[in-house]
Parts: sequence; C-alpha cells; structure tokens
Amino acid sequence: MTSAFLDAKQDKARDGRRKRARQPSGLRNAALVQTLAALLWIPQAGLLSVAIGRIANGGGVEAVIWPAIIIALLGVLKSCLEAAGGRLAFRAARSELTLRRARAVAALARRSPVDSTRQTSGEVASIVGEQAELIVPYLARFQPARLKASAVPMVILACVFPISWIAALVLLFAMPLIPVFMALIGWRAQAASEKQLAATGGLNGFLLDRLRGLATIRALDAVDATATRLRADAEDLKTRTMAVLRIAFLSSAVLELFAALGVAMVAVYVGFSLLGEIRFGAWTGGLDLTSGLFVLLLAPAFFEPLRELSAVWHDRASGEAAMKVLDALSEDGMLLPQGEAAQGPLGADIRFHTATFRYPGSDTSAIEDFDLHIRAGEHVALLGPSGSGKSTLLALAAGLAPCESGRVEIGGQPAGQSSRTRIAWIGQKPHIFAGSITRNVTLGRPQVSTQQAAAALEAARLGRLTSAYRNRPLGDSGAGLSGGEALRLAIARAAVDPEMLIVLADEPTAHLDSATADDITESLLALAKGKTLLVATHDPRLAARMGRTIHLNPELAREAAE
Ligand code: ADP
Ligand code: MG
Repeated sequence: MTSAFLDAKQDKARDGRRKRARQPSGLRNAALVQTLAALLWIPQAGLLSVAIGRIANGGGVEAVIWPAIIIALLGVLKSCLEAAGGRLAFRAARSELTLRRARAVAALARRSPVDSTRQTSGEVASIVGEQAELIVPYLARFQPARLKASAVPMVILACVFPISWIAALVLLFAMPLIPVFMALIGWRAQAASEKQLAATGGLNGFLLDRLRGLATIRALDAVDATATRLRADAEDLKTRTMAVLRIAFLSSAVLELFAALGVAMVAVYVGFSLLGEIRFGAWTGGLDLTSGLFVLLLAPAFFEPLRELSAVWHDRASGEAAMKVLDALSEDGMLLPQGEAAQGPLGADIRFHTATFRYPGSDTSAIEDFDLHIRAGEHVALLGPSGSGKSTLLALAAGLAPCESGRVEIGGQPAGQSSRTRIAWIGQKPHIFAGSITRNVTLGRPQVSTQQAAAALEAARLGRLTSAYRNRPLGDSGAGLSGGEALRLAIARAAVDPEMLIVLADEPTAHLDSATADDITESLLALAKGKTLLVATHDPRLAARMGRTIHLNPELAREAAE
C-alpha cells in the first residue's frame, strides 16, 4: 500500500475523532438562557394572581403596587434574556456552520481531480453555498426550542401539581400526545426535506452543466429538449417543496389542536371549581381565585414551548437534511496524494515503480505495473492510441491521483504536495478565465509579477494578442481565442514560474492544424529547455522531436475499453 493511501486513512480517522469530540457549547448556553427567560413567567403569573386575589378581597392600590413593580421588572429581565439567548444561539449556529463548511471545502480540496465519482460542481456549489444555510435556523431556533420544550412544561407541572392534581393530570395527558404525533410527522418531514434538497441540488447541477455547454446545445439544436427537461425538473422541485410545506402545516395543526384542548379543559375545571360546581381535584377541597387564576395562567405557558417547538419543527427536518448532505461532501473518495515534505532541493527525474492505477468505480486498471525512469532534463514522449492511459500516467506523475500499488517518485520522493509545486501541466484545452490576459497568466500567484507575465506572453509569441486585449478582458472560457492561442497562453503560464522543473503536456497538438502544431511544438521545446518534459501524444511528428519515445501497449488500451 502506498504512503498516499496511508495518509488518506489517517486523515479519515482524525476527521472522525474531531466530529465526535466537538459539541457546540455556545448553543447549550443559549438554550439555557432562553429556558430561564421562559421560566420567569411562573413568578410573574404567581404575582399576578396574588395581586388580583387581593383586589377581589377589597385591597387598594397599595396592596398591588409591589407585585406590579416586580412583574414589570421580571418582564424587562425576561426580554433581555430572550434577546441575549437569541443572539447567542445565532452566533453559535453561524460559527458551527462556518466550521462545517470549512471542513467540507477542505475535504473537497483533498479530493483527486481525476475522480469522476465526485459530485457535480453545480451540486457542490448549491450544497455549500445555499443549502448549508438551512443549518443556521435549525441550530439557532430548533435546538433551544427543544431544551425549552423538555424543561419548561416539567417545571410548570411541578408548580401546578401542589395546587390541583386534576389540572396537573389534564396537562400531563395532553402533553405526551404532542411529541408522539410530532415524531410521526417529523419522520415524514425529514424524508420529504431530503428529497427536496436532492431535487434542488440536482436542478442546480443540471443548470450549471447545461449553461457551460450552451454553445453545444445551440449548435446541435437541442435547446427545446434541454428546456423541457429543465421545466420538468423545476416542476418536480415545486412538488417536493409543497410536500415539505404540507407536512409542516399539518404538524402545527395537530399541535394547536391538542394545546387548545388542554387549555380549554383546565379552564373549564378552574371555572366550575370557582363556581363551586366541582369540589374535587384540589388538595384543600376547592380552588380560590388566586390559586385558580395561577393554574389558568400557567396552562397556556405549559403548551407554549411545545408550540414553539412545532413552529420550528420543519427547521429540524431541513437542517438535518442539509447537515447530512454537507457532511457527505467530507466523505472520502480518491484523495490527492500528500507525499512527504520535501527534504532538500527536489530533483527533476520521474520514476514509475510498477505503478498500478484504477479509476474509482472502474473494474479494470487504467495502468498496470508500469515501470519507467525519466532522467532529469530528458524529453520523453508517451505515444499511444486514445484510451491507452497517457493522461492517467501524466496525472500520476503530477501527483493528482494515488497509485493503487507501486509508486511514482519525483526526484526520489513520492509524488505529492511538494512535487506539485514544481510541475507545470499543459492540458489539451487550457481553461481561460474571464479577465485580463495578464491576470490569466499570473493567476493571482504572488511570486509572479506583471512584468514577468508580459515577458512570458512575449516569449510565447502572444505579443500581438496582448496588445489587442490590452484594455479588454478575455471572454468567459476563452471565447475569442483560437486553440493555438489558448495553448500559447498555457505555455506562458508555465513559463513564468521560476520554480518549475518538470513540464507535463497532455496532447498539446491534438486539435491543431499541422502548421500551428509545429509552432506549438517549438514553443514547448523552448519552454522545456533544461527541464524534464513528458508529453502524451498520438502525433508521431511531435514524438519525433523528443529525445525518447515510450510506446504504450495497445493491448492495454483494448482491455481498458472493454
Ligand atoms: P489516454 O489519455 O491515453 O486517451 P486515459 O488515461 O485518459 O487515456 O484513459 C485510460 C483509461 O481510463 C480509459 O479506458 C478511460 O476510459 C479511463 N478513464 C480515463 N479517465 C477516467 C475517469 N476520470 N474516470 C474513469 N475512467 C477514466
Ligand atoms: Mg488523454
């Protein structure tokens, strides 16, 4: 097993431990503060009933002045605690989201770019950018509401029971029905939310993919078909969204029903007790106005946290679904090899030691027991038909994918993080970013100055293009550049990096006419002067310009294609 595979395993284990160990404590504090705020209603209700009792017994203003003041002060305290609790919860939820996002993005960055089992870019963008936001209401509102719903009713029950066991019994019976129904509904809601999020992600992925291929779609007259598919997907998303909403409304309705019934029954009991019709249920024979009122005031407060919980119930479903998809981004597939930190200056030779590589999800190896040593400064062509594994070999040399067995060494060290910084990759279709031509060369690398970029453009014989695009940006995906110009730009990008020791080029002349191909070949040779060059190609003319040609076994290509 290669060290890259071991690295990946250790990384995974470390991630797992981190996930289990961390519990957001900010959220717990926020929930405690909010619960305390809710509990303040109990002394308020007590004072209110005492004050009304005194008035009913003929007391004047002086009898109720103190209770009134304390009620007002408790009210102020309660709102302060509520505000503070809300703010704390929101902050804790946001930092939790940031953490999870960072973890997902870091995990994505560790994935090998050749792994085609990765989620589509549009889907990832939708999950990380948009769907992940659903975690905030879930953590900030649902979590505190859950603590409140489990603590506050119990305390209220403990206050009601010493006054009237029958009122406590009514509340006690109404209460468990609510969580049971909510759990049943919540279970459906979670499934519906997951489906809805999947539909959102799918739609985003589809849209981004088709927008990128808009030119192809137009050219092949597939606009209508694509639009129909898009409309169908949007309809599907609409249905799923409505399903989530339906369940959310249903759960609120169920809860409101039970809460209303519970309060009504307590009110009927208190009312008839005060009228003297009911003489049981209280410990002292009957309820007086003060204790009756106290029980009556507490009954709605008993259901209040449960109602709050139901209002945020669908936050839980969508939040947990969002957490699931966000965390799923951290699941590992094929990882980028890390290699070891470079010890001393890196050599420029490339060595494949019985390297075997298989793409994730594929049954056959793309490369099997491949041996090759390319000395520093050597220029080598990999010649072979399409599918013979040329690009795969370049990806292994570039340290973009780990070998399944065997190893690839750059300058005697395993290909990985440190060798990647010394390698320039020139692909078949270099990506041109929307923006100025100079920025397309510097790519924001701090060690590359504008002067260096200009010199590299000149050396790559793009001087004319540079003056034409001096004041205007290149179009998205290189609109306005010919294939040859795009390749020259890629060569200029590689040339500005003073640390570069090895050039890997993947079929640089594949789509070019022979004159341009010859031109690019010259530029490539100029770039690779004194450096190691490995070119994948099926163009014998390009191969002939290299110092050595490695013929890839056509048998291998046929096996891989089957
Ligand atoms: P070449 O560059 O010589 O045309 P490749 O290295 O691209 O060949 O491909 C070698 C084999 O691996 C082919 O059978 C191809 O279908 C398969 N392959 C290439 N890229 C991937 C990928 N990202 N996922 C799965 N299989 C792949
Ligand atoms: Mg290829």
